[in-house]
Amino acid sequence: MKPESGAEQDGGRAGTGQLDLFGSQGDRHRYDSVEHVAGEMERCLKCGLCRSVCPVFAEVLDESGCARGKIALIEALYEDNLTLSRIFSDRLSKCLDCKSCMEVCPSGIKVDELVLAARAEIFKRGKFPFLKKLVFRHLLKRGNLLPPVGKFAAFVERKILRGLPPSSPYRMLLPLVKIDKDRTLPVFAERTLMDDFGEIISPKGKPRMRVGFFIGCSTNLMYTDIGKAVIRVLLGEGIEVVIPREQGCCGVPVYTSGDRRTGTELALKNIKAFEKYKLDAIVTACAACGAALKRDYGTILGFRENALGTRVYDLNEFLVEFSDLDFDTGRRNPVNVTYHDPCHLSRAQGITEAPRRVLDAIPNVTFTEMEEAERCCGGGGMFSFSHYDIAKEIGKKKVSYIAATGADVVATSCPSCMMQLKDMLNRNGLPQQVVHIVQLLASCYPRLD
Ligand code: SF4
Ligand code: SF4
Repeated sequence: MKPESGAEQDGGRAGTGQLDLFGSQGDRHRYDSVEHVAGEMERCLKCGLCRSVCPVFAEVLDESGCARGKIALIEALYEDNLTLSRIFSDRLSKCLDCKSCMEVCPSGIKVDELVLAARAEIFKRGKFPFLKKLVFRHLLKRGNLLPPVGKFAAFVERKILRGLPPSSPYRMLLPLVKIDKDRTLPVFAERTLMDDFGEIISPKGKPRMRVGFFIGCSTNLMYTDIGKAVIRVLLGEGIEVVIPREQGCCGVPVYTSGDRRTGTELALKNIKAFEKYKLDAIVTACAACGAALKRDYGTILGFRENALGTRVYDLNEFLVEFSDLDFDTGRRNPVNVTYHDPCHLSRAQGITEAPRRVLDAIPNVTFTEMEEAERCCGGGGMFSFSHYDIAKEIGKKKVSYIAATGADVVATSCPSCMMQLKDMLNRNGLPQQVVHIVQLLASCYPRLD
């Protein structure tokens, strides 16, 4: 249960290549065109089961919304019966990558790989917005530009936008960048998580383990409290935390939009960043980042053996495996909590039990399960920005289930879901607070000095 600490073995940076990563790149561009997924398309039985679970189809009521319709479109493109048009791109962009269809598909079709291969094809043929390409290739890839941009946004928010009425002309400008003027967005932090912590953070006494912390962009730049809570919990567990400075965006927004090349470069950058250290495990509190590191680097980007992924744990999963989760049950104010399963934790990683075990262990939490807790919230990363009208309808259903529990707090395990849930609750006039599980759990551990 408690492995020997890597910190004990090397006393600092290891550089020993404990993670065996570089014999494993394989033909990593396997899924960069529809030609490579032709076999998958052939296996579709046209049964339509995917329609019954697809949150996009439920709103658009158009065949192209569900997996069967998308497969038919991709097949037509592959067989040259269709030209790659703006309409085709739009139809293929209407997928949350929620993987609900894959759960019910009798043929076990890898819908995610098919859709992403089609998007890669769109990207390759140049049918891709220039601005997005600019952001992917220059902002996300060169991760060192992100913190200054985030800090500038924090400055503008603090000095100019805060306190302005909702009708202010500044808010009216948001639609110009395709953001609804009434949308609730998280604010950028004045200091990133990396600004506040060194590369290696040691607990009091001899560490029992040494783990790498994959932070993720939203936790580093916006939801820094989540990152602080993760560090508090791990240190409280007697675990040394390593935050490699060279880590960057996990690549999800990039390769799910079709830019495989930049996605692969980001993956390699992260692999190298963590490969430098001797670590017992790598932990993340972001469901989307976890699914990328564990799964997509292998399946989507085509690394034949994803050795990094085998060391990655979602925080809930890690704690259930390596902690006793046994806390003092002294008096605390009770909190009524419900839980939303992020698609990238439940379906992409198969983790549903661990977050509930963690919630159950927190002494002051009273848990109420919501109806369809695993139903997608409608966020889908970039989806809610490009298809806010559909995201709003999907989110409305989700928050009605939250409200029906009577809970005061909705916990989840993904910053991206938090963004969508908070916006949807506000939009529907509901008062529930949205937190990451680790923010509730952190109160069970000593404060950070
Ligand atoms: S459930 Fe699977 S096999 Fe049936 S139509 Fe959908 S994708 Fe095809
Ligand atoms: S992944 Fe989700 S949104 Fe996309 S086709 Fe499947 S069920 Fe629909």
